[in-house]
Amino acid sequence: MSKYIALSIPNFEGNEKKYVDDALEQGWVSTGGAYITKFEQKMGEFLHVENVAACQSGTAAIHLSLIEAGVVPGDVVIVPPLTFIAAVNPVKYQFAEPVFIDCDDSFCMDPVKLRKFCENECEFCSGTLLYKGKPVKALVVVHVFGNLADMASIMDTAEKYGIKVIEDATEALGSKYAEGELAGRYAGTIGDFGAFSFNGNKIITTGGGGAVTARKPEAVDHMRYLSTQAKDDPHYYIHNEVGYNYRMTNIQAALGVAQMEELPEFIRRKQANYDRYKVLFEKFELCKLIPFRKGTISNQWFYSLEVNRSRITATMREIIESLEKRGVQTRAIWGLINEQIPYRNSAAYQLEKAEYYADRILNIPSSTQITEEEIRYVAEQVREVFESLAGA
Ligand SMILES: *Cc1c(COP(=O)(O)O)cnc(C)c1O
Repeated sequence: MSKYIALSIPNFEGNEKKYVDDALEQGWVSTGGAYITKFEQKMGEFLHVENVAACQSGTAAIHLSLIEAGVVPGDVVIVPPLTFIAAVNPVKYQFAEPVFIDCDDSFCMDPVKLRKFCENECEFCSGTLLYKGKPVKALVVVHVFGNLADMASIMDTAEKYGIKVIEDATEALGSKYAEGELAGRYAGTIGDFGAFSFNGNKIITTGGGGAVTARKPEAVDHMRYLSTQAKDDPHYYIHNEVGYNYRMTNIQAALGVAQMEELPEFIRRKQANYDRYKVLFEKFELCKLIPFRKGTISNQWFYSLEVNRSRITATMREIIESLEKRGVQTRAIWGLINEQIPYRNSAAYQLEKAEYYADRILNIPSSTQITEEEIRYVAEQVREVFESLAGA
């Protein structure tokens, strides 16, 4: 059996080579060049926002957002425990304190627990929410696997308590609300800031790269300025703030422009492939395919199976290795961030769902190039592996 079906690989079926060649021929390979501006424009048009700054990674986009939100040493930032650690590390870059809030069944932040945390664990003093005497300056909400968080409810709480909201939309480019007060709005365009990533396994990729947007267009300008070493003058080396080397390069942006042309097609394929899996896992009692939030149109970046733990006690490692042997690449959801060494002393508020899902979720192949036959093969292998583990 030589077949190997990867979890999530890049797709360069469009103008990628053409635009990258063009950038190389022009000699614009670094942090200046027309593709960067073009990429920012394309992102802005797609998301219906006025201003987008392209940067070097999703992590950089989150870091710039925290800086722009005014997060300084000693502040508190509310974060999720069940996600990729890059959503939380930038809080430490600012020497601020993360507090972990549980997720709901979408894997995104639980708006009810967020509310309860603010009401019951904090003090609201002259316009500032304080947790153990420290200002709760911001919260980072992640739209996990392309699923949208309940932003309407999260924004209510954040606005009530003066907390700046950073949407980590690194996995959710193209996910939008279909119903309710947020109908038509895209992930990353609802909070005060929105961060995107174009790492290799994201829905579009620039090799490595990111972008940041904000409700206030001037805030985006300022983050762009910070990303280019805070250079204040085109001729003299004048810097009035501490800047960063966080700008996207023109080569990355050339890739990005081509990928943006394909984004609607990538989303369409992700959705169609999810529906194929759905049929194949229907009525299979050893695992279930997790749905995306009602009232939304998700980019369906990653598909999640919930392992039925009353029937299957094998570890995630055993499951993943068995599937790997059959040529199917899968992965477990992340380990809880609050259990990682740098975060063990941070506060965690009523974690239940995050702990529940940490040991149950398996992501299955979701590349845009996957064929119908490969999807059937994956489903068949998953079923066989689970049946043998349940029987053992
Ligand atoms: C990918 C990812 C990031 C970081 O993006 P990079 O471009 O890799 O820095 C942050 N948060 C989440 C949830 C991610 O999945």
